[in-house]
Amino acid sequence: MTPGDRKAALDAIAAEVRACRRCRLAEGRANAVPGEGHPDTEVLFVGEGPGETEDRQGRPFVGRAGQFLVRLLGSLGWRREEVFITNVVKCRPPGNRDPQPDEIEACYPYLQRQLEVLEPALIVTLGRFSMARFRPGARISQVHGSHVPADPAAVPSGALVYSLYHPAAALRSLEVERQSFDDVAGIPPALEAARRGRTGPTESEARQLAAGTPATATLFQAET
Ligand code: URA
Ligand code: SF4
Repeated sequence: MTPGDRKAALDAIAAEVRACRRCRLAEGRANAVPGEGHPDTEVLFVGEGPGETEDRQGRPFVGRAGQFLVRLLGSLGWRREEVFITNVVKCRPPGNRDPQPDEIEACYPYLQRQLEVLEPALIVTLGRFSMARFRPGARISQVHGSHVPADPAAVPSGALVYSLYHPAAALRSLEVERQSFDDVAGIPPALEAARRGRTGPTESEARQLAAGTPATATLFQAET
């Protein structure tokens, strides 16, 4: 897929999401939140579901949790526009309650199609609902800051899954906030591992690795 094709495919998915009424979350929403980001990124962030600010604006992670996520990305020198950010449910659960299993199921085809278009090397899960989708049976307290190959049933194209605490949890606990910065620092090495798993190191990566300097993380796939 060319970058232009990817953008068109993501826009088409977003248009369907905005009109979707497949589950009860359609009833209480102001705006569905399909997700946004760079169509050629190698890194997909998946949160839980829109909150109040996201519902109002129709954009993911634009409230307080989103501001924290932007700080976390900033600690890597990354900007939100360079990655893709979405959620397991695209409409706000009333009163920010947890998304229910049937709602997550109903919404999953959209996430699956976003995955098929983006073919990310690395999926970063934010919180336990997103983690459970790609790493069934894992416990967030044990797996935050670590990566595993994605469940092949969930991601046929293959990817590594890296898990973080939900950014909203960091707003409630200084310990989780501190831990989140440590965990985020593990993302660039996980991305490099994901790339090597796919293609092996590129020539320039191999040279840099041989020289003992880590390859710079760029976030975009080579145009194919
Ligand atoms: N929390 C989420 O899980 N997703 C958002 O988009 C905003 C807050
Ligand atoms: Fe459709 Fe997902 Fe919104 Fe439910 S949460 S109405 S499945 S877009």
